[in-house]
Amino acid sequence: MEKNLTKIVATIGPACESEDLIRQMILVGVNIFRFNFKHNTIDWHDLMIQRVNKVSKELGVRIGTLIDLQGPEIRIKLSKDKLTIRKGEMLPFFSITHSQIIPLLRTGQKIMVDDGKFRFVFKKKFDKNFLISDSEGVLLDKKTLNIPGIDFPFPVLIDRDFEGLHLAVRNQVDYVALSFVRTAEDIAVLRKEMKKFKLSASVIAKIETNKALDHLDKILTVSDGIMVARGDLGVEIPLEEVPYQQKIIIKKCILKGIPVITATQMLESMVTSPLPTRAEISDVANATYDLTDAVMLSGETATGQYPVQAVEIMQKTLAFNEKKNLVDSRLRFNFDVEEEYELLAEAAYGLYRSISQKKRTFAGFIVFTTSGRSVRFLARYRALYPIFAFTFDTRVADQLTVSFGVKSFKLEQQDLEKALSILKKARQIKKGDVLIILYPVLDKGTRVLGISNVDE
Ligand code: ATP
Ligand code: MG
Repeated sequence: MEKNLTKIVATIGPACESEDLIRQMILVGVNIFRFNFKHNTIDWHDLMIQRVNKVSKELGVRIGTLIDLQGPEIRIKLSKDKLTIRKGEMLPFFSITHSQIIPLLRTGQKIMVDDGKFRFVFKKKFDKNFLISDSEGVLLDKKTLNIPGIDFPFPVLIDRDFEGLHLAVRNQVDYVALSFVRTAEDIAVLRKEMKKFKLSASVIAKIETNKALDHLDKILTVSDGIMVARGDLGVEIPLEEVPYQQKIIIKKCILKGIPVITATQMLESMVTSPLPTRAEISDVANATYDLTDAVMLSGETATGQYPVQAVEIMQKTLAFNEKKNLVDSRLRFNFDVEEEYELLAEAAYGLYRSISQKKRTFAGFIVFTTSGRSVRFLARYRALYPIFAFTFDTRVADQLTVSFGVKSFKLEQQDLEKALSILKKARQIKKGDVLIILYPVLDKGTRVLGISNVDE
């Protein structure tokens, strides 16, 4: 299979929970597994995180783990698994996760459920709460509920999220994603709680509210990564504006040097069909032309009938299309290049542009890193070759799994010979290959930028 540099995040669910399917999904290209805490039991997630860690260890593949917290997102709580809804019917208002907002609702308020698939109008009658349905179908439990245009003061985390944080600490989870982020303050609250839990995971802000778009720049400065959560975003803002916002968010993340995940419905029809639509393939391909770090599968792998095939098709689509991005990133982006790590990344990319055109044996970059920052700032140029990152910190290595083109390795000492032998053993490089190396001289704090040949 031709290798891809754009990363793949896959959501774990009942449809892919076996060790065997997890193994197959890793082998065809998953880099990060996502555990959506809004669904299933805490014990199930506990088991699944351990299972993913066990399988990835057996395979010797570095896999990231991401937990997705509900945060200030409203979900319905039905008394049964599903509810059949007819158009025009008036039904009692269902229970919801944030019941404190119900008294604030007024007759005539529009309510959207399941990413906008079900539309209702709220009605108060004799002090009882009702919904008048404007759509029909079978509504499943725990779907999202949106109240467009209304800004209620919600707590940032709910009880279940705290259980999620507990689990994240126990299992050394690499990324914590927060749903329904509104402002930078929401991220600050999460970080404070994580600190109490002594959890050092990277924080990913899911951009899916109108308010988050208004506060995007500030949110970007306090987050370690961003998810373009198109499901709810398409309810909160007009659907036709989602592709535009996707491009803006990705571009801003690239300028900031933080990873971005494009998510929701990428291969949705594969939940029930072995082949995606042309439009879905285009969506995945276009995300690579937007230069996203990663793309995500949700229902396709969590509940779909073809979880492995969905990953496979995604992988192939990425591998082909991402290689067509030949534009010089220095021209496409107006990068700030002031700090030392920015200068080095810019220089390394410049070197790469000239070397890779002349040397057919160019194989990628080697970067020794402590915090991962110089790796992320090199990754933002989206060079079409891997960045082999070496760090003594396992956490840092795991928290680079989402970044474009990065393959990270743990190495106790900053030892170039060892790094090269690891890469040879892993069949990442071979005799005659040319590499660009970013090598900090630790005692002096300076960095050496060099080109090297792999010989012997
Ligand atoms: P979000 O808005 O955070 O993406 P979601 O409800 O849309 O949440 P997804 O993670 O996109 O959920 O997954 C799609 C569907 O797969 C869910 O609506 C749910 O029905 C199912 N699902 C996901 N994770 C699980 C799980 N761990 N256990 C059972 N079902 C799950
Ligand atoms: Mg969703």
